[in-house]
Amino acid sequence: MTRSSVPPASVSPERETDLLDSVPTGLLIGGQWRDASDGGTFDVHDPATGEVLAALASATSEDALAALDAADAAQASWARTAPRQRAEILRRGFDLITARAEDFALLMTLEMGKPLAEARGEVTYGAEFLRWFSEEAVRDYGRYLTAPEGKNKILVQHKPVGPCLLITPWNFPLAMATRKVAPALAAGCTMVLKPAKLTPLTSQLFAQTMLEAGLPAGVLNVVASSSASGISGPLLKDSRLRKISFTGSTPVGKRLMADAAQNVLRTSMELGGNAPFIVFDDADLDKAVEGAMAAKMRNMGEACTAANRFIVQGSIAQEFTSRFAAAMGSLTTGRGTEPGTQVGPLIDGGARDDVHALVSAAIDAGAEAVTGGSPVDGAGYFYQPTVLGNVPNGADILNQEIFGPVAPVTTFATEEDAIRLANSSEYGLASYLYSKDFNRLLRVAEQIEFGMVGFNAGVISNAAAPFGGVKHSGLGREGGSEGIAEYTTTQYIGIADP
Ligand code: NAD
Repeated sequence: MTRSSVPPASVSPERETDLLDSVPTGLLIGGQWRDASDGGTFDVHDPATGEVLAALASATSEDALAALDAADAAQASWARTAPRQRAEILRRGFDLITARAEDFALLMTLEMGKPLAEARGEVTYGAEFLRWFSEEAVRDYGRYLTAPEGKNKILVQHKPVGPCLLITPWNFPLAMATRKVAPALAAGCTMVLKPAKLTPLTSQLFAQTMLEAGLPAGVLNVVASSSASGISGPLLKDSRLRKISFTGSTPVGKRLMADAAQNVLRTSMELGGNAPFIVFDDADLDKAVEGAMAAKMRNMGEACTAANRFIVQGSIAQEFTSRFAAAMGSLTTGRGTEPGTQVGPLIDGGARDDVHALVSAAIDAGAEAVTGGSPVDGAGYFYQPTVLGNVPNGADILNQEIFGPVAPVTTFATEEDAIRLANSSEYGLASYLYSKDFNRLLRVAEQIEFGMVGFNAGVISNAAAPFGGVKHSGLGREGGSEGIAEYTTTQYIGIADP
């Protein structure tokens, strides 16, 4: 397959250049954009073409410690800032991002590859964390009660945990940052944000926007770097740091948890997933295919919530697979800025090789490529939308995060089988269930080990809901009322009979 021919690009090269030129390229430390201490830089690429988009300052360990100095210096006054004032800065951030939605969307498409329509969706989702936590900032309740034996009083209040290290992945460049920064700001914490080196530009523009929204110097510091461990290493050893919140792969998360333990840090870990998408024989098949497309193809499958295993009741498996394959096979692949593009490139050549290795191994093990199954020729890191039928249980592709536009379908006979298959993973992040029988949906949800369950819904992320996993998918929740609790600590004051 070659790339679909598409009409001329609707985004002019001048528009791309002007936008890229407006993005700060330095490190944000103490309210100032500055060069790296050793003058080092690294390049950011367009995954659709492989071309260099920008060169950013690459923070050193020394810069990371300077960022923590700034966060530590700003902590006391930010914690004392009235919750209403913190809320208003967050709300202004929401308004400014919304006003510049097209810039944020285009920047994400350029550095990450997702189609513009999806990037716009991420702007809406990502900005919403600022609005949601602006509303939560003024509602962080404590309690006051009489001790059970009478007379003495118990007062419980929440305080900001202190300076945080926030590490984000490349797949959702805006939302992964706002999902951490917004609750941390709402709670009264200062922070050092380290974005992924593959997609740091959106965080740069986001930080600039928060300064425009009135965020005081030093509250949010941003240190993009070509050396992730060069940033996290010294910070995790520094006793001024009080928390790490990480989103990324499970192996890196485990390493960071071990390092964080040396300093007994508060820890939030949003790690990998291996979402089951279970279709029962009474499901509305049109809705199931529509949901499957959303759960699989959002972000080209490069999402921790991406449906990774399609577990379909035997009697409808063939019908589901052929309808799903027809929908997948009709998608238009191309650069995300091109009109009509529905599937962008994968993030880099290594990611594409990994996806293809899983597909090849599954086919060797007996699976059939109903549609797709190969990389796309030409520039960029494109992979065909792929549906694999008859995937044997135990195939690697069912046990590992695919992180690409590939849907393996396997079958089950009974409800108990479906539950067993769903739970046969070390991950427990998102899951999707399709059936018209609400009691069955609830019964299955009770028995599967996942932090999030969608009932007849292919996309369930929402700023107002607690996002997070169990087992090797991580610890803690982002969003909802739970999100702010990750950034507060509890203080109890015992009051003698007043
Ligand atoms: P990754 O673990 O390679 O990198 C994530 C971040 O950690 C990046 O900023 C990276 O620079 C940094 N990092 C890498 N090695 C490090 C080290 N030794 N010390 C400190 N920092 C280090 O993950 P990725 O490839 O960027 O993202 C994809 C992964 O993220 C997938 O596993 C996906 O499931 C997961 N993810 C999870 C969620 C969630 O909410 N659970 C959301 C999005 C992505």
